[in-house]
Amino acid sequence: MKKYYLTLTGMCMLIGFFAQAQEYTQSVTIQFDVVPASYTIVPADLKYNKNVAYSLTIDDGYVDVWNVAYPLIQGNPVVETDMFLGNNYGSGMPFQRVGGYRFSDGCGQMLPFRLGLAINASQMGKNSRRLSWEQLKTLYQADWDILNHGHYHAEELPIDFQDEIVQNAGQINDHIGFYPRHFAIPANQSAYVGKTQNLGMVATYGAVNGFLGVYNNGYWQVGGDISAVNNHLKLIRTSVPVDSASLNLSALMSKFQSIATLGQTQPIWYNEYTHAIGAGTNQYPTNSNLGFQLFRDYMGFIADNYADVVWIAGLQEVEEYLYVRDNALITNQVLNGNQLTFDIVLSHAQEDQRHFDLSLLVKPIGAQITNISVANDSNASSNKSTGLINLSLTQN
Ligand SMILES: [Zn+2]
Repeated sequence: MKKYYLTLTGMCMLIGFFAQAQEYTQSVTIQFDVVPASYTIVPADLKYNKNVAYSLTIDDGYVDVWNVAYPLIQGNPVVETDMFLGNNYGSGMPFQRVGGYRFSDGCGQMLPFRLGLAINASQMGKNSRRLSWEQLKTLYQADWDILNHGHYHAEELPIDFQDEIVQNAGQINDHIGFYPRHFAIPANQSAYVGKTQNLGMVATYGAVNGFLGVYNNGYWQVGGDISAVNNHLKLIRTSVPVDSASLNLSALMSKFQSIATLGQTQPIWYNEYTHAIGAGTNQYPTNSNLGFQLFRDYMGFIADNYADVVWIAGLQEVEEYLYVRDNALITNQVLNGNQLTFDIVLSHAQEDQRHFDLSLLVKPIGAQITNISVANDSNASSNKSTGLINLSLTQN
């Protein structure tokens, strides 16, 4: 009988093992020119201390993500064409924005926009209009988000939720090695609400009553509602305009401009979704397609005017930032002469959490920062004059 019971020591070791396996940490060392009178360390509301997080999702996994959106963002030459229908209805004119579409990290680096893809495993690689698994894997490795969007995109009841939610995640995991627990509801079918959480999803996005954010405007002020993220985030997402009369560059720009203005007083998370990028808006059987020119010009407008105030990343990346921001602890603070050291500890991650990023603002009183170093994070960046530090926690 005895062998079925753990000794107290064994149990402590076991608990210690699991606690350690889930712990994410980072250590920071800061040098000042003189001993500061005091200092503060504050997590930034949004990564890179931006006013606005903008998540653009491209739904349903059409191949023009690969042929048009991704190379455009990366700064590679693209021919204006229509890959969605498998025919060339575009102008055939080549276009290239050298350097691609980028935003600033607040520390002197420009980073490519990171978009999100909401996909249905049953459609991937099915025909020439859809992304292949290999393409999807490359996009995932380029830090684009992959969202669970249902196995068959089922939108009419009755729906096999187990199949739509769990099978889809499992197949994506089989093909690209990542289990997506962020669910974008197909066709905003409200019957998915609750099912996603019961079937292991971490967050659910859709234009559904009762979800967080502003309906038809797709934004949420992210200043402080910690519980909203910890208890399964349910966030409204908004389509780019469906009807061609409203879907134009000036409407997109003026909406984005109003969001950026709101973000000056309180940080905002804004999101939109679209479907096809590869052609003009009138050549599609489905709605809310930016098409080639609108996508190019809208992304260009954001990059040209808002690179310093906006952070462009997928829904999952932003949700995970908010989770880390609100759950990580700053510990072991030691000010030894001119040198400040401290650790950041996240004791519990979300299931299959992918990003562990945190931006901190360190403000000394009566001193200047002369050096910032982050242990074991080659991607960390920092700005001595503003005290901004962008880092990622790593598993212990
Ligand atoms: Zn869809």
